[in-house]
Amino acid sequence: MTAQIIDGKAFAATVREKVAGHVARLKEEHNITPGLAVVLVGEDPASQVYVRSKGKQTVEVGMNSYEHKLDVDTSEADLLALIDQLNNDKDVHGILVQLPLPGHLNEDLVINSIDPAKDVDGFHISNVGLLGTGQKSMVPCTPLGCLMMLRDHHGSLSGMDAVVIGRSNIVGKPMAQLLLGDSCTVTIAHSRTKDLPDVVRRADIVVAAVGRPEMVPGDWIKEGATVIDVGINRIERDGKNKLVGDVDYASCAEVAGAITPVPGGVGPMTIACLLANTVTACCRANALAEPEGLTA
Ligand code: NDP
Repeated sequence: MTAQIIDGKAFAATVREKVAGHVARLKEEHNITPGLAVVLVGEDPASQVYVRSKGKQTVEVGMNSYEHKLDVDTSEADLLALIDQLNNDKDVHGILVQLPLPGHLNEDLVINSIDPAKDVDGFHISNVGLLGTGQKSMVPCTPLGCLMMLRDHHGSLSGMDAVVIGRSNIVGKPMAQLLLGDSCTVTIAHSRTKDLPDVVRRADIVVAAVGRPEMVPGDWIKEGATVIDVGINRIERDGKNKLVGDVDYASCAEVAGAITPVPGGVGPMTIACLLANTVTACCRANALAEPEGLTA
């Protein structure tokens, strides 16, 4: 079998189109422009690239983008004061604090100071609890993007066996909750899992979120399974820098029914889902109907 490629780049473009359409309607019919505030502390090069890309795409779909760039030695009190100001700003519907934060800042404290209704990353403890109990919440962007692609590919996920490799708070755990919410039978694997190849071989859906280049070979994959590769790993091969996922694409694509490539799979969906979450947050803040197909 040669796997169908799930084109995250193209899918993300359709998500952005939907978001843009909804933003246009909010402006026309309600005179409301959704706004996303992104806070960056310090000058981490990767974070700077992400923040720039988020700001650009926010503007492209017609929303307002507010960028707050703070010095690397910004105090916790000053950062919390800024978040408080954004929490109370009615033009700001989504707030994202770019992680990682410099070591002197308490990430949990900072994230949990964001108004949960504006927490478009879905990392606030209230949103984690709401998702875990199957209630309406803001859903972390990367797993939301994976879920959207899976739903688009399969229609219903009900009854499917899903294995999520990785149990981080930002990808693995919320991914598992979302799959459970769609009535999959879910296994979460991690570094202490015994017989990982056998566990993965049971799965109709494999989501790899490990951070280890090409760790999952094709012979771990059940014939016809769907493979979602969240990993983004920079490696050097043949003297060139290359981006690879957590699965060995070539061998997995021979066995899988469908697979996301790296780059061009999950990656582009993450920012698209951030925009989707911002428009959702704006609709909820204004007691307006939420856009369909953009939430979990
Ligand atoms: P973390 O490092 O927080 O978590 C990695 C998880 O993988 C842990 O739960 C760890 O287990 C598990 N793990 C590590 N080694 C093994 C192993 N040998 N076998 C089984 N499980 C293992 O990573 P993240 O969840 O933040 O990110 C995962 C990957 O996804 C990274 O490559 C990251 O760059 C990428 N990513 C991509 C995004 C996108 O937009 N496409 C967004 C976010 C992340 P344990 O808990 O036992 O240590």
